[in-house]
Amino acid sequence: MTAKTYGPISGSAILKGITGHKAIVMAANVRIATVAQGILQAAKDTDSVVFMELARSESDLKGGYTGMTPAIFSERMQEAARNVQFGTWALHADHITIKKGDAAEVDGTKQLIDAQIKAGYTSFAIDASHLFNFEGKNVREELSENIRVTTDLARFIQRRMNGKEFGLEVEVGEIGRKDQEGLILTQPAEAVEFIKALNENGVFPQVLAIANGSTHGHTYDANGNVVAQLSIDIPQTQAIAKALRDNKLNVGIAQHGITGTPRELINLHFPKGDIIKGNVGTFWQDVAFDILKVYEPALYKNIQDWTLEKYRPANPGKKDAQVFDGNCKFAIKEFYKDIYAVDEETNHAIRARAYAESLVFFRAFGAYKTASLIQKSTG
Ligand SMILES: [Zn+2]
Repeated sequence: MTAKTYGPISGSAILKGITGHKAIVMAANVRIATVAQGILQAAKDTDSVVFMELARSESDLKGGYTGMTPAIFSERMQEAARNVQFGTWALHADHITIKKGDAAEVDGTKQLIDAQIKAGYTSFAIDASHLFNFEGKNVREELSENIRVTTDLARFIQRRMNGKEFGLEVEVGEIGRKDQEGLILTQPAEAVEFIKALNENGVFPQVLAIANGSTHGHTYDANGNVVAQLSIDIPQTQAIAKALRDNKLNVGIAQHGITGTPRELINLHFPKGDIIKGNVGTFWQDVAFDILKVYEPALYKNIQDWTLEKYRPANPGKKDAQVFDGNCKFAIKEFYKDIYAVDEETNHAIRARAYAESLVFFRAFGAYKTASLIQKSTG
């Protein structure tokens, strides 16, 4: 069926299919849709399975900061997949974030999920990790709100998917959150308690996002320069994966915030199989902007001027380069028409660059040949 339409397959089929193999599925946050065709062509040529995703902040009913609603995003990803004739991919809703957990927010979230399902999404990440009860007397109490909201939304997705299989990712420990001592990391006991509680509620995610030392976006030094991210705590990640296995909880780890982590390090040192899904977001935005810089200098200058003018006041003391770096994502919606109206030479360069970079990611993730693996397991 999918062989003809090249539409997305269930996220659960992919995540279950690679479990037990030393491989990480790349999940690409495609903020500028032009990169998608390069990524999917590389996936096809290397037989690598892939997720195409956007977070709620990037894509919501109003378009998020990418300007793409779930319907538009789905349409563009399916078009890219048809163009390269590749059908072993999932359409994933990254970070369906809940920050307060009140009825109004949960209801609004269900409207978003409805739109995603209608648009053909096959996988969902519920992120209620912000809901943490600091007064809780034990781990279960600390996580009670996260458990409640995650369960509610997961059951909602289940009902709305109407018997269709789907991927489910959940999150414990807010990624990138800091206290005075630095990044707060998820503890193995927290991960175990969280998944146990969800399983008791009849919710069985295939993958769990944890806070393990990464941050979303670029990492900066004290002078505001972009530097390599070397902060992912690999032993802690392995300890969490082991604790989950020891408790017979059938769930892999999702690594968020990979942009900036050197791929030779991922290639040699990431615990593939413990980590089964790796999110790469800002990197793909950089790919598109790097090309625009040279191929569309006038447009790039307009994007720069707009971003600096708008975000300089809120960032006193920061250098222009860092203000631009941290906020250029908000220019994507503002310059939506221009970004998608560039000529074919520019689009070709974006796709080609995305293709080459995808090869390197798929290799570093051990993802080559995983697409056939999934096709076999799904028949
Ligand atoms: Zn993330």
